[in-house]
Amino acid sequence: MSGTPEGPHSATVAAPGTVRPPVTERHTLGRTAAELRDYGAAFRAAHLAMAVLDREGLVISANDALAALLGIEPAALSAQAAADLVDLESDPRSWHAYREVLDSRRSRFRCTRRLKHSSGHALWAEITVSPVPESPTVLLSIADISDRRELQARLRHLQMHDPVTRLPNRTLFFERLASALEASAQVKGASYVEGGPYVEGASHPDGAGPGDSTDTGSSPGTGDGGTGRIGLCYLDLDGFKAVNDTLGHRTGDRLLAAVASRLTECADHDGYTRSGGHLVARLGGDEFAILVEDSTGTEQLADLARSVLSALQRPFDLAGQRLSVSASIGVVERSTAGTTPTGLMQAADTTLYWAKADGKARWTLFDPERNAHRMTRQALTSSLRPAIERDEFVLQYQPLVGMADGIVGGVEALVRWNHPQFGTLAPNRFIGIAEEDGSIVQLGRWVLRTACRQARQWQKDHPRVRPLFVSVNVAVRQVWDSDLVADVAEILAETGLAPQLLQLELTESAVMGSAGRPLQALQALSDMGVRIAIDDFGTGYSNLAYLSRLPVSVLKLDGSFVRGFRYDEGVHPSPADETIVEAMVQLAHRLGLTVTAECVETSGQAARLQRIGCDTGQGWLFSRPVAPERIAEMIAVSPLEA
Ligand code: C2E
Ligand code: MG
Ligand code: MG
Repeated sequence: MSGTPEGPHSATVAAPGTVRPPVTERHTLGRTAAELRDYGAAFRAAHLAMAVLDREGLVISANDALAALLGIEPAALSAQAAADLVDLESDPRSWHAYREVLDSRRSRFRCTRRLKHSSGHALWAEITVSPVPESPTVLLSIADISDRRELQARLRHLQMHDPVTRLPNRTLFFERLASALEASAQVKGASYVEGGPYVEGASHPDGAGPGDSTDTGSSPGTGDGGTGRIGLCYLDLDGFKAVNDTLGHRTGDRLLAAVASRLTECADHDGYTRSGGHLVARLGGDEFAILVEDSTGTEQLADLARSVLSALQRPFDLAGQRLSVSASIGVVERSTAGTTPTGLMQAADTTLYWAKADGKARWTLFDPERNAHRMTRQALTSSLRPAIERDEFVLQYQPLVGMADGIVGGVEALVRWNHPQFGTLAPNRFIGIAEEDGSIVQLGRWVLRTACRQARQWQKDHPRVRPLFVSVNVAVRQVWDSDLVADVAEILAETGLAPQLLQLELTESAVMGSAGRPLQALQALSDMGVRIAIDDFGTGYSNLAYLSRLPVSVLKLDGSFVRGFRYDEGVHPSPADETIVEAMVQLAHRLGLTVTAECVETSGQAARLQRIGCDTGQGWLFSRPVAPERIAEMIAVSPLEA
């Protein structure tokens, strides 16, 4: 391979590894004039937009496709700097790589660019520049990849958005969160530049590198002038499940979409930011998040949370249905330094939990001190399941006493946890956790079995006394997530306890809106002969008419009603309460239900409850919850011992 280098630039010494062959005159000379004419015609008529450039990067000739692509007359293209035509100078890295090809120090350069047609519309172009073999010229070709880009963008949009609310989904949310935290942690410019150059064979062969996304963008404040802080409102609708269960998924979906648009409004009208709205995402179910990049402090987040709560307060009109919802919001605001997505989300999750626990329909700010206590909660959560196996739970029993005759007819089983580390724990400390992580199913089964076995044992030990019934609390999740009916049947058979001696306490919310399974379960249990009681009645829907249509036979009036009866402690009684309770008892009786009053602490309360017509009482006046041996002693002295 020998020959005379031609053209001003061919004298440049090729860098090691470049593949451009030495140009020889021999080849061009070997072509006939007809051949050259054909090549020229083919070049001009080709569908791919192309231009032949000299080593200065000036257009020698351009084809019609290129002229059409840019909307410029073919003649006007000649002698133009190609770099201007396709905007290569704006990005230093592209410019450098392009120069290297012109100087024969690189075999090929390709990049993606957003170009403007002379008529104004934009298009996505894949630009390739490479030397023409055996010629001093360089070929520039431009493929219009707008359709491909649009398809990619659309696919990405689908992958990143929730179809119900059209909001960004969990994936996009976490991507944005990660990039917001990363951007502030990294030195600017270290990441991939959109449309940047790459050498053939590099890692993004189709030009769709990680930076090619069109809809995630990076945070507006990733560069200079960012606050270095980040905030999050993590939101969960209160009682959404009930809407879904009672009104159906279509209404549920409509509600979610309506909520989404109110959230977006709030995020867009945050008075603190100059640069438009914050990312609002649906993280799943009825959970939403508003991400505030470059937050200015907790005040901004607090204002946002307040505006969200008030926006949701207006009732929703959904295809003729008027619905009201509320939401609980966990608010976290902190410096981005040292913050990880996981850390931020955990804090938000905990804070949301506090908002719920504090009574819902509110926002709560993350509190590091309160978080320290959460450790115990975590410790409890992790030791709950093993504790069931290790037999760390015990039952106490509290007498249920006839108001008219003072006779103990039954007992309520109340679970306690003898924790090796924390001592004896009341159910309020762990039942909620057990419900959340599902271990309530296993624990509930243990309680049921132990209580039934105990009731049967008392019966055996005191054959001549009227047997006590045992009342067992059943958590919502036991009705939904386990086969309660089968469990009860099995345990009754195994222990030999008569179904009439078992009462199950469910809360109102567990049986309301129960079009499907729970209702069937209640009916099946009732058919078996098991009694159903509604626990803590009066704290929920208090829909007596509805309840009376269910196979429910007992109402357990919540302790808060009885508390209004404290005559003898110098506290003024609340006549309103008394009137309400009296009406409730009368109505319950008319509907065929018996009434048990909880938390009877004084004889004054007992007297009033008896006058009002309550059938049964439970409370410290009669007995605290006690060990089974104590109940056995009570039975032994029972007047019914014949
Ligand atoms: P509950 O079913 O309403 O039980 C009555 C609660 O009131 C018991 O609290 C009892 O100790 C308390 N109490 C009884 N008499 C009085 C009184 O005169 N004054 C006052 N101030 N309180 C009184 P405990 O044992 O802490 O149980 C709390 C709740 O935990 C129960 O409320 C029940 O909802 C739940 N629970 C208890 N055991 C179980 C169980 O085995 N399974 C499930 N799922 N929940 C349980
Ligand atoms: Mg109870
Ligand atoms: Mg109760």
